[in-house]
Amino acid sequence: MFDELQDLYQQVILDHSRSPRNYRVLPSANKTAQGLNPLCGDSITLYLRIEGGRVEEATFQGAGCAISKASASLLTETVKGKTPDEIRALFDHVHEMVTTGKATSSDLGKLAVFAGVHKFPARVKCAILPWHAALAALEGKEEKVSTE
Ligand code: ZN
Repeated sequence: MFDELQDLYQQVILDHSRSPRNYRVLPSANKTAQGLNPLCGDSITLYLRIEGGRVEEATFQGAGCAISKASASLLTETVKGKTPDEIRALFDHVHEMVTTGKATSSDLGKLAVFAGVHKFPARVKCAILPWHAALAALEGKEEKVSTE
């Protein structure tokens, strides 16, 4: 069990959950959405500022477990400079990776640390939650999205 947890909470995940990057409200955001994962109690609000068809800035705030926080932190770093279409494609890769454990795209970069999450089905929703929020934000849905 300890080894499995070690595997899950890899160094990158621990680092990003302890000191989340881009953890702040973004007053200049023009796309925002809140993601809720009632099973774990995660609540993540994602802020995006899109200019010229690309993400200029991405931040988040909220409360959640280490996995959801680390995922949101890495998301905000990863989506910067990307177009909405690129982010949608990345969502599909992340979703496949956290459910099957297979990283099928080199675009995943550091996100590949979440591949181990597939061994913990209850944690899959924690990892994918910020990505659901990102898609909802891109679609201009201001309401809350829930994993349930
Ligand atoms: Zn969680």
